[in-house]
Amino acid sequence: MTSIVSEPVTVMPIERKDGTYALRLCLNQGLLTPGMTRSVMEIMETYPGVTLRATTGQRMNLEGVPKGKLDEIVSTLGVSIPKCPPGVSVCPGGELCKYGQQNTREMGDRLLEVVKANGPYPFKVKSGVSGCGMACSLSFVRDIGLVGIAKGWNVIYGGSARHRAAPGLRLAKGVSDDEALAIIAKALVYYRDTAKKGERIGMMVRRLGHDVVADALK
Ligand code: SF4
Repeated sequence: MTSIVSEPVTVMPIERKDGTYALRLCLNQGLLTPGMTRSVMEIMETYPGVTLRATTGQRMNLEGVPKGKLDEIVSTLGVSIPKCPPGVSVCPGGELCKYGQQNTREMGDRLLEVVKANGPYPFKVKSGVSGCGMACSLSFVRDIGLVGIAKGWNVIYGGSARHRAAPGLRLAKGVSDDEALAIIAKALVYYRDTAKKGERIGMMVRRLGHDVVADALK
């Protein structure tokens, strides 16, 4: 098939129970450019049965990709990688939402750089940046959460939305952008150096105890 891609899309193939594949589009902050959107639409028009579905992590999956067409579709779209790099979920924030206390998009980009700079980690790190306490990016139950308040950011660490779901530890209240990112960098290094392989931040905090972790990150 002739490539119609005006902008390549990086995808992660995921095998499904019925033998088809999903292709996860490795987006950041859920952003699909016009070029990426055209490419994805072309695939859906060319391959009937392939659909587009939003994920909970602000990414998109092309679902229903037949195994026999996987290589062809991947090479048409762009490149395939075994795992999408970490992403950050970001709500519209103060730039767009009437409730927003802090701007989220630039902070989300800065947070992503901090996450990338301090890995690799024992397991995945999911982050959410919310412009106010309504926490539409699920900041209280992400591994790393930022919640905007009038005076800055509250920093949340080790929240979990899985079994034994629980909000994370609040590491700081009302801190500036730079202060929040410095606290998060320290907390990520602690996670990297302290957790067992396969252990999420929330599991590590439960194992060690809130007080121990809070003391270590003062
Ligand atoms: S968290 Fe607050 S600022 Fe963000 S979308 Fe929700 S209500 Fe708006």
